[in-house]
Amino acid sequence: MTTSKQLSKNAVDFIDDEKLHRLINETREDLGRTREIVQKGVQKEALTLEDTAALLAVTSSDGVAELFESAKSLKKAIYGNRIVLFAPLYIGNYCVNNCTYCGFRKSLRSTVRRTLSDNELIAEVAQLQREGHKRLILVYGEHPHEYTPEFIAHTVKVCYGVKTEHGGEIRRVNINAAPLSVEGFKTVKEAGIGTFQIFQETYHKESYNKYHPINTVKGDYMWRLNAMNRAFEGGCDDVGLGALFGLYDWRFEVLGLVAHSLYLQQNYGVGPHTLSFPRIKAAHGVKVDSQYQVTDEQFKRLVAILRLAVPYTGLIMTARESPEVRDDVIEFGVSQIDAGTRLEIGSYQEPRGGEQELKREQFKIGDTRELDEVIRWLLQRDFIPSFCTSCYRLGRTGVHFMEYAIPGFIGKFCTPNALLTLAEYLEDYASPETKIAGYELINRELAIFPQGDFKSKIEQRIDQVKSGERDLLY
Ligand code: SAM
Ligand code: SF4
Repeated sequence: MTTSKQLSKNAVDFIDDEKLHRLINETREDLGRTREIVQKGVQKEALTLEDTAALLAVTSSDGVAELFESAKSLKKAIYGNRIVLFAPLYIGNYCVNNCTYCGFRKSLRSTVRRTLSDNELIAEVAQLQREGHKRLILVYGEHPHEYTPEFIAHTVKVCYGVKTEHGGEIRRVNINAAPLSVEGFKTVKEAGIGTFQIFQETYHKESYNKYHPINTVKGDYMWRLNAMNRAFEGGCDDVGLGALFGLYDWRFEVLGLVAHSLYLQQNYGVGPHTLSFPRIKAAHGVKVDSQYQVTDEQFKRLVAILRLAVPYTGLIMTARESPEVRDDVIEFGVSQIDAGTRLEIGSYQEPRGGEQELKREQFKIGDTRELDEVIRWLLQRDFIPSFCTSCYRLGRTGVHFMEYAIPGFIGKFCTPNALLTLAEYLEDYASPETKIAGYELINRELAIFPQGDFKSKIEQRIDQVKSGERDLLY
């Protein structure tokens, strides 16, 4: 039998623990330098590890206030005020690993184990479509027999095949699953996946070994660290990185994420599409020590610093965070959030409002609001909730580069598409209150467009959506 240890024997280690520690311990706050670095970020230039360490060293209230302001204006300049929405869909929780923070780990005999059948999956997807979702991320435990690349590819195809009334369909399926081989990545790519996400959990090797027992597949740090190299080799050039904050010093994880992003950019010509920064949550049968717990204030700083450090990368804030934290942090650089989230396997079809049953879930979520409520909140905050998937489907490749590299791209494509997909949601799924708030926002946004043919065409397309046409893309 080939073990993952053998598989990773030629792996490349691009995380220099000693250097990252040195940067954290030896970099001092320097407001003059911070301003120069922030300007670099605002000019949309990727930051170096040294630059990022300088931002991590900022703790004075004036310095932190400047970081927040700069991250906010950078986000506006790059992404405008759109927030892309998606739902996670847990496919199965059989797992061969024993990650000590996870409610799905193998040794927890009391966890209820299950994998959705095709019919159950179809019913879950149909329900999500009927709530208004167009984008999913499928989530799997790690199990070499249950969740093979072929099985993952099959579930992706099942999701794309579900059609419901009003043109309800899933237009983009992302994946969060265990690292695959090059062949495995090829197989899932052929199924038409969007982003393949793998979180390193912690970039700090000693902590990694503490949380991921060595005798498990996930116990091989290098196999995981090089997963995205294999993804690129297998043709998956759309990847998402992440770290689970709370396992080690948050500043080290930020440097780890930036080092990983720079490595991919330098070696494959493309950085990650997204970064995720989940904070560890309570889970069934799990005790996590609080030594490295990340406070809300540190969380906000880390999001702002990531925004400045990797301007070309989308940032995902998940429903692990409470509505209050999401409200506070969203403007500092977040571009995607999940909404209407349920983690119990097969639970989207169950009645809403019950307590989370942790034995059936990976961890406790912080934001249990339904999609409609989350959309209303975004509208009240003057964000445009977007379900747009246009570029991927029209074959505009390298899309997350175009967004900021091509002048006027956002105004020409992203904002109109966000407004059109919002109008579809308002027509087909919104509550009366959300529908009113949604069209008010659409009118406010349209008022910003200069008078002319382009504006008239968008107005015309919004009218077409109102009269029942769907999927009108720019
Ligand atoms: N099983 C695969 C793996 O571990 O890569 C894929 C999906 S795992 C279900 C998704 C992510 O959930 C993990 O990468 C981890 O970062 C996160 N997670 C696990 N336990 C958590 C907890 N208690 N709180 C917050 N996030 C957690
Ligand atoms: Fe399994 Fe993933 Fe949970 Fe680890 S984090 S126990 S690999 S489901």
